[in-house]
Amino acid sequence: MSAKIIDGVAIAQKLQQEIASQIKDLTSKGLRAPGLAVIIVGENAASKIYVNKKRKMCLELGIISKDYNLPDNLAESELLKLIADLNKDYTIDGILVQLPLPKHIDSNKILEYILPDKDVDGFNPYNIGKLSLGRSALRPCTPKGILTLLQSTGVDLKGMNAVVIGASNIVGKPMAMELINARSTVTVCRSTTRDLPAIARQADIVIAATGVAEMVKGDWIKQGAIVIDVGINRLPNGELVGDVDFEQAKEVAGWITPVPGGVGPMTVATLMENTLYAATVLHSLV
Ligand code: NDP
Repeated sequence: MSAKIIDGVAIAQKLQQEIASQIKDLTSKGLRAPGLAVIIVGENAASKIYVNKKRKMCLELGIISKDYNLPDNLAESELLKLIADLNKDYTIDGILVQLPLPKHIDSNKILEYILPDKDVDGFNPYNIGKLSLGRSALRPCTPKGILTLLQSTGVDLKGMNAVVIGASNIVGKPMAMELINARSTVTVCRSTTRDLPAIARQADIVIAATGVAEMVKGDWIKQGAIVIDVGINRLPNGELVGDVDFEQAKEVAGWITPVPGGVGPMTVATLMENTLYAATVLHSLV
């Protein structure tokens, strides 16, 4: 058996078209376009690639991107001052601070300083709290994008056994919340989990988000399961692979996301979706 591919590029493109068309509607009515402030501190090469993707996507969809490329030695107080200014700026609907920040800056303090209604990454404790209560809010982009991918299969998530491998604050934990809200039965695994393959084999849905290249093997997957691979790992030979052994898993799974071309494009598209949501629903730009 060979799994059906969940095409993250195509699904993200469809979402992007919908967003671009809604933004065109706003501006044709004489309203301002949504605004996103994208802040990067320091010279992390991977962060620069992500930030450039986000800025490019803003341009394509008609979102105004205000860009801040700040030096590595920026004082924490200066970053807080910038966020305070952006919190007050009515043309800015979303504030994105690219992580990781340099060690001398307290990331939690920075993320908590962003107004919840401008927190388009969905990392502020207020928004995480709302997600855990199942109430509408700005939701973390990667898990929200994965939910869109799962829904694209047409499979009813209610009552499904979902196993999330990875328990980070930005992927694993909010992913578990999303699936609980979708009324799945959820197990969260991490590095301390005993007999992980046996737990994964019970799953109708496996979400792999560990950062360990190709650790989820074909014999961890139940026949017909949906496999979502969040991982982005660069092998020594330069190849980009996920946390799932794709060649093995695709022979057993019913559906699978590729790397690249699965979760990654949805994360960026969902950031744009969140920015539009902040503008129209939270900031009443309609
Ligand atoms: P973190 O390093 O913050 O968290 C990794 C999690 O995986 C931890 O909970 C850790 O457990 C768990 N883990 C690590 N090793 C194992 C193991 N051998 N068995 C079981 N669990 C394990 O990573 P992130 O959540 O930030 O990212 C995970 C992956 O997803 C990375 O490859 C990252 O690049 C990618 N990513 C992709 C995105 C996209 O848009 N496609 C967006 C964000 C991330 P413990 O807590 O016990 O240490």
